[in-house]
Amino acid sequence: MQNGIATPFGDFFRQININTLRIPSLRITDVIDILLVALIFYIVIHWIQETRAWTLFRGLLIIVLISFLGYYLHLYTLTWIIERTLSVGIIAVIIIFQPELRKALEQIGTGAVTSVSGILPTNVIPGKISRESADEIYKACINLSAEKTGALIVIEQQVSMGDYANNPSSVSIDGEITAPLLQNIFVNKTPLHDGAVIIRNNKIAAACCLLPITQTEIDQSLGTRHRAAVGCSENSDAYIIVISEETGKISIAKEGKLRRAVTSHELKKMLEGISEGAKTSAININKIWRGKKNGR
Ligand code: ATP
Ligand code: MG
Repeated sequence: MQNGIATPFGDFFRQININTLRIPSLRITDVIDILLVALIFYIVIHWIQETRAWTLFRGLLIIVLISFLGYYLHLYTLTWIIERTLSVGIIAVIIIFQPELRKALEQIGTGAVTSVSGILPTNVIPGKISRESADEIYKACINLSAEKTGALIVIEQQVSMGDYANNPSSVSIDGEITAPLLQNIFVNKTPLHDGAVIIRNNKIAAACCLLPITQTEIDQSLGTRHRAAVGCSENSDAYIIVISEETGKISIAKEGKLRRAVTSHELKKMLEGISEGAKTSAININKIWRGKKNGR
């Protein structure tokens, strides 16, 4: 078995003759070719991270790794099952991701994908808001709470909220984070008040966003706003602030748990903790793996 693993590499290295090695000539078209392929890879990876495809990509990666193992360890039945699953899986992927694929093709058609601002990363640290933005969110929450205006604010962290923000039912805002704007969005009976606001890349990305409702049992007295906050937090690492229209109380959902009736001091500390300049923990590879951009 060990020979099976070692032989292909051994053969490969034995065939290399250092005397006959030469650097291949490189034409300008080759350079263009390499750059274009790199750009395509970059766009595809960016797209994967921005959509639900990231979770699927992880799954595929695991299946490919298992099939490699199965192949080298001669686990024929396992390899056979994986081969069959993959061939059906490709068709399933096309069906499941039909909306995303359509959108991507439309973007290529309209040239939107070539917009540099849409592709190149900004200098904003993902998941971080500026200190000023944290203050503005804090002010808005305190005012909304005092007025008993219902609100739902999602603050994106590492897991992308792009799917929710770019949903057809959402309204794109792309506005600076200010307390008046946030308060205005949630004013009752105005067109944007229903649903959640998504904060990403230190901007108010969108309003009227529909979040998934949790399926777990929570306090019966809590309605759909709180259930949507918990549901969204189960599927991501976002911080979700809920302000109750009935009581004016502020709650924070994080990782499937709802902290109810947080004090203004606790809210401030939480917002400061995720703002720029706050102490950041070392990059946690496990966290990235769990859902780099879209861990659903
Ligand atoms: P409150 O304490 O403010 O009454 P609640 O938890 O009792 O909150 P509801 O009274 O059912 O919740 O709140 C309804 C509002 O919650 C809707 O008008 C809408 O703005 C928001 N909401 C409901 N479901 C969702 C969802 N899936 N995604 C985003 N927002 C939602
Ligand atoms: Mg209610």
